[in-house]
Amino acid sequence: MNSVDPSPALSRRGFAAVAAGLGAAGLLGGVAARPAGASAAALAGDGGRTRVETIRLGKVTVTRVVEFSGPVGLTSRQFFPGSPAELWEENKDWLSPDFWKPGTDMVHSALQTWVLRSEGRTILIDTGAGNGKFRPYAKQWQYMDTDFLRRLSRAGVRPQDVDVVVNTHLHNDHVGWNTRREGRDWVPTFPRATYLIPKVEFDFWNPAGPVRPKYWQGNQNVWEDSVLPVHEAGQVTLWEDAYTLDSSLTLHLAAGHTPGSSVLRLKSGGDRAVFIGDLLHTPLQLEHPEFNSCFEEDEKQALATRRRELEWAADHKALILPAHLPGHGAAEVVRDGGTFTIKKWAGFSRV
Ligand SMILES: [Zn+2]
Repeated sequence: MNSVDPSPALSRRGFAAVAAGLGAAGLLGGVAARPAGASAAALAGDGGRTRVETIRLGKVTVTRVVEFSGPVGLTSRQFFPGSPAELWEENKDWLSPDFWKPGTDMVHSALQTWVLRSEGRTILIDTGAGNGKFRPYAKQWQYMDTDFLRRLSRAGVRPQDVDVVVNTHLHNDHVGWNTRREGRDWVPTFPRATYLIPKVEFDFWNPAGPVRPKYWQGNQNVWEDSVLPVHEAGQVTLWEDAYTLDSSLTLHLAAGHTPGSSVLRLKSGGDRAVFIGDLLHTPLQLEHPEFNSCFEEDEKQALATRRRELEWAADHKALILPAHLPGHGAAEVVRDGGTFTIKKWAGFSRV
């Protein structure tokens, strides 16, 4: 699919149908996406709906492990205050049912961890909401009780196998499985892992610091139960500006959503990808990056950074993997004048 269908809606639907038929064996960036050994196993506890699937990008494999998928209690106007209702209606044929429900106007999101295997190491990008966390102002993620670790094991990953955890930023839905409860304590879930956190992000959320974040209530207890325990265990590496993980993977700052938000860029062989965390929350923002979510710490900077990363992705034919897209979970875009058009979805099955 190197050419762009003149009808974006048809293009999106067409690829979705193909990908749904092929499952994880869909084509991605011209490279056959290969299911991992564990990918055929349907997950217990979710009616077998969610699968653990793997694609290959150059020498790196990317596995999707879903913690949650569904409505998150926000209407399109609450989640994306600047987006007109008509725009959602106009795009409902492809936004529904995965990303938005027209009848209720509820936005659907996923919590998922991207598991990368690169140069012999196992790397997790973001760790979801976690189990048993007290979130009085983020009730959606309070006292979760999922079989996420079991799903991770279906992907062939035991906690002690994880070498690196990347927290793209420190919101409650990105650091939850950093820790697990042991008796009265929160302990690192991944005992051998180095946790990579942008220094500016760490300082921003440190309650001893000078700034009160806009989202301080929603993030209540997160520092204490999900960040401090891994720091006190000596497992955190704070990085500034950029951080090279290996010859294929580099972290970059991408401020706006939070001051220390970051993206991970992948370059391996001819393949390119960018894991953009929370730079966007709905695929509508792939085509309309001018709409922010309600969670941006700096609105203006969030807009500029989103556009910058989409431009990089379009120019490099890179797969864009946000933290929260249900459906196929990731997509490629092409430039369309001053805006972007979705070219194709990733080869993951819809969730
Ligand atoms: Zn998030």
